[in-house]
Amino acid sequence: MALVLIGFMGAGKSTLARRLAELRGRAPIDGDALLVERFGHSVAREFELHGEQAFRAAEEEVMCGVLEGAGARDVIALGGGSVLSARVRTALTEHTTALIEVAPEVAWERVHRDGSERPLARDRDAFEALYVQRRSLYEQVADAHLLWAESASGEYPVLVGRGLLGGERLAAVWPFDRLASRPFCVTDETVGELYGGQLGGLTKTIAIPPGESAKTLASADRVWRELAQAGMTRADHLVALGGGVVGDLAGFCAATYQRGVPVVHVPTTLVAMVDSAYGGKTGVDLPDAKNYVGAYHQPAVVLVDPDMLATLAPAELAAGWVEVLKTALIAGGELWERVSQTTGCEVNESTILDCAATKLAIVAEDERDAGDRQVLNLGHTVGHAIETATGYARYRHGEAVGLGLLAALRLSRQEHLRAQVRELLIERDLPVTFDGAPVEALLGAIARDKKRVGDRVPFVLVQAPGEVSHGSEVAEGDVRAAVEELMR
Ligand code: NAD
Repeated sequence: MALVLIGFMGAGKSTLARRLAELRGRAPIDGDALLVERFGHSVAREFELHGEQAFRAAEEEVMCGVLEGAGARDVIALGGGSVLSARVRTALTEHTTALIEVAPEVAWERVHRDGSERPLARDRDAFEALYVQRRSLYEQVADAHLLWAESASGEYPVLVGRGLLGGERLAAVWPFDRLASRPFCVTDETVGELYGGQLGGLTKTIAIPPGESAKTLASADRVWRELAQAGMTRADHLVALGGGVVGDLAGFCAATYQRGVPVVHVPTTLVAMVDSAYGGKTGVDLPDAKNYVGAYHQPAVVLVDPDMLATLAPAELAAGWVEVLKTALIAGGELWERVSQTTGCEVNESTILDCAATKLAIVAEDERDAGDRQVLNLGHTVGHAIETATGYARYRHGEAVGLGLLAALRLSRQEHLRAQVRELLIERDLPVTFDGAPVEALLGAIARDKKRVGDRVPFVLVQAPGEVSHGSEVAEGDVRAAVEELMR
């Protein structure tokens, strides 16, 4: 079972197939290049000489031949129109198909920029009509969606698809040859029990107790030592199977064990699927402050199977939904409309993708939090302080961030939006008031926030959904008032 990239012309199938294949140490199989080789001239010339029908017949034959001969770790870029053939669609069922989405205007711009003559990209209206017509076919055959994450220190694929992590598909999407690089897994006791077996043939699994209170240096010490005792080397890789706690801890251990080994993230909570698995921030909490010790370490790949959310407790799903809300506030536009207008906490694959894409776009510009990445901390200054001041046990991370969003909107003087967000939290049984620590403890924890510069803590403020700024100085009295308001 190979990994087959599909999508409209200009989506980047050939480029990403090449990069994915490189990561696997093999050559990509490029459907379009094989066709050009067979014709002995360009696709445009073939259209002129023999017409589209003859081209489609040749395309079907070549693509079916490729799909029949492909092996488990091959990466194939399929010709954009190949999915029109029922024979090709049937052949695809033997493989794992990943769709690369591209907006029509981006596709148009790219196919004209690269200078290649595409017979179906001459007229803009016809191009857009073709886009609409093919879109549902792509969706119909896609097993997953592929996003490509880029940042100053590296790039990696993100695959999101239901049932992606079971049976034969695993070999098609796993970035490493397990005979050459052995998988060592960090998970928590709950998740390990539920999904450890699904990842098949793990060399060693270390299961920490579930929950935030295990995101400590003591847990990291345990992981490092157990990996050393099990003989993990730098040729091997770590797998983070779990929510944000496991992802942060395992990522930190991967960043530091023998000065760095690759990490595969398999997020299992909504928090992790929409947020924490991407961007390479890893670390542990100190009793004094949250995420105080850590490192940046980008994943080798993020593999998301939204079916895993089926076993998540409703309260955990609701807490995760707060990160969806936060991301929608940052993104604004269509994502904000969708998230603020739906009921409940169920999130479909396209919302997971949109949240991931929002975060990845921000991280691509500022991996190390020097500027715009700080907007992702919206609601987190007060949120983290709530977690620290209550000993990481009273509020789930997402619940604390929900309260932090209310404080940030108060500091932003956005009363209408604050009231709307408050309603959205109440509808989902999420807390909108805080108890469990005195106001001074909370203010003390805010003052220790790791974003502090000199004696001030910069805040992320919201002007409107989609308009978020970072680095704002806020008067101490205003912070106190925003925190006291949460206690009423
Ligand atoms: P978590 O990892 O503690 O998971 C919550 C609970 O759900 C745990 O009890 C776990 O055992 C259980 N669970 C996980 N997956 C399950 C499944 N599929 N079925 C049943 N139970 C399941 O918490 P979280 O909310 O995922 O993550 C919170 C952490 O993420 C915080 O430490 C936060 O700081 C961190 N975080 C990091 C980043 C980042 O960029 N690195 C971003 C956001 C949050």
